[in-house]
Amino acid sequence: MKIICIGRNYAEHAKEMKAETPTEPVFFMKPESAIVRNGDPFFYPDFSKEVHHEVEIILRVCKNGKNVQKKFAHTYYDAIAIGIDFTARDLQAQCKAKGLPWEKAKAFDGSAPMGEFMPLSHFKDIHNLNFNLDINGKTVQKGNTKDLIFSYDTVIEYISRFVTLKMGDFIYTGTPEGVGPVTIGDKMEAFIEGEKLFSCSVK
Ligand code: MG
Repeated sequence: MKIICIGRNYAEHAKEMKAETPTEPVFFMKPESAIVRNGDPFFYPDFSKEVHHEVEIILRVCKNGKNVQKKFAHTYYDAIAIGIDFTARDLQAQCKAKGLPWEKAKAFDGSAPMGEFMPLSHFKDIHNLNFNLDINGKTVQKGNTKDLIFSYDTVIEYISRFVTLKMGDFIYTGTPEGVGPVTIGDKMEAFIEGEKLFSCSVK
């Protein structure tokens, strides 16, 4: 099992990070130890002073695939959840400055909380999903999957050229603008089309 995350997949987020809008998907991975199940707490790590939330729509991979053609890509995922790609922004900035990989800023234990997975049929249009993250009852990020730079199917075609997709893998599809820090005591809740499908508190 692995978690594949797409970076800079919403133009307004790329802009807020002062990054260029990518011309092909950017991806990185998190290990199984990054997963936090719905409702469990996130423990603020001692190696960072600036952990940011990135709310993202997550796909669950339902069969193995290598070199998947875009026209078949939609058959490789069967469920959707919402979750957080936690990022140690201070460490990431240091890595970027030195041209080093981002792993310690992105792949640390607990960095991938995810909500409950719902079958695709639960949603009216998975390519037009409004989603948002609230912290302590206030909306801090909102987006719509129609604004993805690279669609789910483009991302699956692209990733599977390099890395074989396996049943049970997860794909974080990217965050919209509005990323920011969390602090101990925060209560996070995330919604798809107004339905609460994720909760996590920061401890
Ligand atoms: Mg992200």
